[in-house]
Amino acid sequence: MSAEVKANVKKLTDELKETHNITPGLAVVIVGDDPASRVYVNNKKKACEAVGFMSEEYALPAETTQEELLSLVETLNNKESINGILVQLPLPKHLDDKAVIEAISPLKDVDAFHAVNVGKIMLGEYDFLPCTPAGVMEMLHSYDIPVEGKECVVIGRSNIVGKPMGMLLLHENGTVTICHSRTKNLAEVCKRADILIAAVGIPKFVKANMVKDGAVVIDVGMDRDENGKLCGDVDFENVKDKCSYITPVPGGVGPMTIATLMKNTLKACKLQNNID
Ligand code: NAP
Repeated sequence: MSAEVKANVKKLTDELKETHNITPGLAVVIVGDDPASRVYVNNKKKACEAVGFMSEEYALPAETTQEELLSLVETLNNKESINGILVQLPLPKHLDDKAVIEAISPLKDVDAFHAVNVGKIMLGEYDFLPCTPAGVMEMLHSYDIPVEGKECVVIGRSNIVGKPMGMLLLHENGTVTICHSRTKNLAEVCKRADILIAAVGIPKFVKANMVKDGAVVIDVGMDRDENGKLCGDVDFENVKDKCSYITPVPGGVGPMTIATLMKNTLKACKLQNNID
C-alpha cells in the first residue's frame, strides 16, 4: 500500500514538474546521534528520492543550542525551495520540542504538529493530517474497513499518535475510547474493540486476552524486543489468529507514515504555489 501511495505521489510530482516547473522540497532536521532517529531520517530521505522530491538534510550536533535551532527553522521558513520542514523528534533534553514545533510555519508543518494544524484537525478542517494516524486511516479505507458505529479503542494519548488518532476515528463516526497508563481494566476495555490501535511504546504489550475475536488490530509501536529485534506493541504471534486483520512490525504503519509524509509535502508545495 505504501508503495502505491508513493507511486501516486511520484506521478503527481512528475506532472507538477512538467506543468509548473516546480519540484517539492523537504528539509529534514536531525539533532544529535540517536540511532533510531538516524534510521527514520534516512528512510525519509530515500522516500523523497523515490518520489522525485528535492530533500535537504540538516544534521546538527547534540550540543546545538535552542537559538541555533530556531534560527535554522526561521531560515527554512523563508527558503522558497523548501515546502516542508520536519524536525526529527525527540530532540536532546536541553532543547524545547514545543517551542521548535511552534516556530515552524504552519504552511510548512508537514508533520501537522503545530498548534494551528492541531486545532484545524480538532475542527475537521485541515490541510495536513499527522502522518501516522493518517496512514492508519488510509489502511482502513483501502481495506474497506468501516469505522462508522464501530467500537474503536486507542491505547496511548500522545500528541503525535494517540490523540489525533482518536480524533480521526471520531470524524468518521467511530465510538472512540482512548486509554493510557491510568486506565482501569485495560484488558476489558480493549476487548470491546472492533478496531484496536496500539500506540504504547512497550514491546508486545497487547496480549491475546485483550483482543476480541475478529477485531482489526493496528500496531503503531516501533519497539525492541529482549534480543534487540524490532517489534511492535502487539504480541503478533499470539494475537494474529484472533483478528480479521492485523498489521505487522516491521512493515505496516511505519511505511504508511512515510508515504503520508510524501503526500503532505506535495500538498504543502501546491498550497504554497496556489495550485489545486
Ligand atoms: P509516548 O509519547 O511515549 O506515549 C505512549 C502512550 O502510551 C502514553 O499515552 C502512555 O500513557 C501510554 N501508556 C504507557 N504505558 C501504558 C500502560 N501500561 N497502559 C496503558 N497505556 C500506557 O509514545 P508515542 O510517541 O505515542 O509512540 C508510541 C509508539 O509508537 C512507540 O513505540 C513509537 O516508537 C511508535 N511510533 C511509531 C510511528 C510509526 O511511524 N510507526 C510513529 C510514531 C510513534 P500516559 O499518557 O498516561 O503516560
